[in-house]
Amino acid sequence: MILGAHVSIAGGVANAPQNAVDCTCETLQIFTKSQLQWQAPPLLRDEIAGFKRGMKLNHLVPGTVHAAYLVNLAARDPDLLVKSRDCMISDLGRTEHLGIPYLVVHPGAHRGQGAEKGIQVAAKSLDYIFRNTHAHRTMVLLEATTGTGSVLGGTFEELAAIRSLCRFPARVGFCIDTCHIYGAGYDIRTPAGYTATIHELDRVLGLDNVRAFHLNDSKGALGSKIDRHAEIGQGEIGLEPFRLLLADTRFTKMPGILETPGGDGAYARNLAVLRSLIPSP
Ligand SMILES: [Zn+2]
Ligand SMILES: [Zn+2]
Repeated sequence: MILGAHVSIAGGVANAPQNAVDCTCETLQIFTKSQLQWQAPPLLRDEIAGFKRGMKLNHLVPGTVHAAYLVNLAARDPDLLVKSRDCMISDLGRTEHLGIPYLVVHPGAHRGQGAEKGIQVAAKSLDYIFRNTHAHRTMVLLEATTGTGSVLGGTFEELAAIRSLCRFPARVGFCIDTCHIYGAGYDIRTPAGYTATIHELDRVLGLDNVRAFHLNDSKGALGSKIDRHAEIGQGEIGLEPFRLLLADTRFTKMPGILETPGGDGAYARNLAVLRSLIPSP
């Protein structure tokens, strides 16, 4: 796995590569604007050039952008749905301009419409987004969630259903967050549980469509639906699943992004823990 973290863009996106290097990252995830903002002015030419220069100089592998948390692709409220779709179109354009191949988004919450309807709305949202960004290549990665309340994506089947209803499936992949799938009830703590979960992942989503991992331990218990990230080895998941993931040759070229508490100040420590799990050749 290519290890990285969700780093700060304080002062502008052009600062992100140096922040990533300071945390010992090989790849990175960023927001391209405040995660609580619907819209932002387009990225300036200089910001884009500065970001790309920083990535290249430091041999960083382009990882992922995370979409704004406000986005709900399955929203019931028509205003919210329009805003969410437009926000994704602008985020996708920004991601493309930065040379990052993947935009990660949570599939959305159906808010009482029922999962089936929510899945249909989310797929229609993706259709709208891709129709309006047809010149772009950036893929949208639907992130696995804990599935709390009306949140979609708590099962691999729900994620697969959204992709299969979308008219542009080649532009839809998946991002697997270890904290989220554990909270959703996928027990990856033992070698047998890990093997069974990855088998399910392959059977339902196809490993070719899994393009990134988020590596987080979990403060919530197995199946608790709690989405609270913990530092690596300090939560309910423990170190074993990370050891298994890092040894799994199917994921050698995949970004593995930390979103652990403590942010940029704690990433180097967490990355060192992960690297200590990789057997020396
Ligand atoms: Zn996320
Ligand atoms: Zn995540």
